[in-house]
Amino acid sequence: MAKLADGSEKGLKGHFEEDFSHRTRIGLAPRSGFIDRNAPYKRIATEEAWTFPALVKAQVEYLESGQAAGDDSLKMAGMFAKMPSLQAMLQDLGDLRLAHMDEFGIDRQLLLLTAPGVQVVRPGEGTALAREANDIAAEACARHPDRFSALAAFDPRDVTGSVKEIERATGTLKLNGAVLNSHFQGRYIDEEEYFPILEALEATDAALYIHPTAPFNAPHYETRGFFGALAGFPHDVWLHTMGLVFSGAFDRFPKLKLVIGHLGEGLPVHLYRFDWMQGNADGRQHLRGGAQVKLKHPVSHYFKTNIWITTSGCAWEPAIRFCIDVMGPERVLYAMDYPYQQSSDEVAAYDRMKLTPDEKKLLMQDNAERVFNLPRG
Ligand code: CA
Repeated sequence: MAKLADGSEKGLKGHFEEDFSHRTRIGLAPRSGFIDRNAPYKRIATEEAWTFPALVKAQVEYLESGQAAGDDSLKMAGMFAKMPSLQAMLQDLGDLRLAHMDEFGIDRQLLLLTAPGVQVVRPGEGTALAREANDIAAEACARHPDRFSALAAFDPRDVTGSVKEIERATGTLKLNGAVLNSHFQGRYIDEEEYFPILEALEATDAALYIHPTAPFNAPHYETRGFFGALAGFPHDVWLHTMGLVFSGAFDRFPKLKLVIGHLGEGLPVHLYRFDWMQGNADGRQHLRGGAQVKLKHPVSHYFKTNIWITTSGCAWEPAIRFCIDVMGPERVLYAMDYPYQQSSDEVAAYDRMKLTPDEKKLLMQDNAERVFNLPRG
């Protein structure tokens, strides 16, 4: 049993342990009688994972071919594929997921195609799988319009295909933004050639959620057991987010909305220092192989204008309080991180937090509805 930061002990398992079977039985007696079922806000969980068989098959096939050496993200997919009860939860978009949501007190899940997604499969296969993913997610949302919303998957290696798919998924399919599982074979969308994707996201008012994955070619993480939540995941999204800021993407696309999880992967704590040290990268020649970029604003400006954060996996009041204070109550959104960090008492912990009623409603409901253009109320 791990001792958590709030002093409680919880038997939550890490991402990589196969001990979910006790949670897979539908009809499990709710253990959460203390959840306020009449709370004056809905609970919208905004980083909830899913996948589907054709994608898992494509990931495993490419991994086993031995042709994707160094892609630890793909190796992670292979590891997840060998966890049958985790896969049962990830692949269910019906009764099992809804039963867990009811048990945990979640009104709506925002579905994100789980890391590493379509961006690690054999080059050329990703966009077709993204289309399939988005069709499946849209069907699930249509079946349960009061319970599910979803973000669009895309494969950034295919820029033209990504633009078309973001337009189709947020237009015809009415999905609510897009998800990128951070780097793709060590590439990041802060490079100029990927900017048409950012342009399409801004034009469609689709928020981009950058979700972690294992760092690329990273034995120095793996040998320490750090490729996941302990270091590799937050480090990669940190790099991606700072890369976007310093690329000038938010000056060029001022209405672009970026969402990052796990309390902004620790970034908000450093805003003071980022502004102080901005000159390390701002206005320098030849970064990212491109032209000189001089930002229009201090780094912290973009965190208060273009960036939102979610609380996935971080149900910790002092840290949430800090983020609300420095970024603003309208920029912090609730997320659970189902099924990786699911918890039947998490919602009650949020209910007990000493936030004002307005802050609580923004955190649990209103911010998600606004950022992702969800149905209101
Ligand atoms: Ca997650």
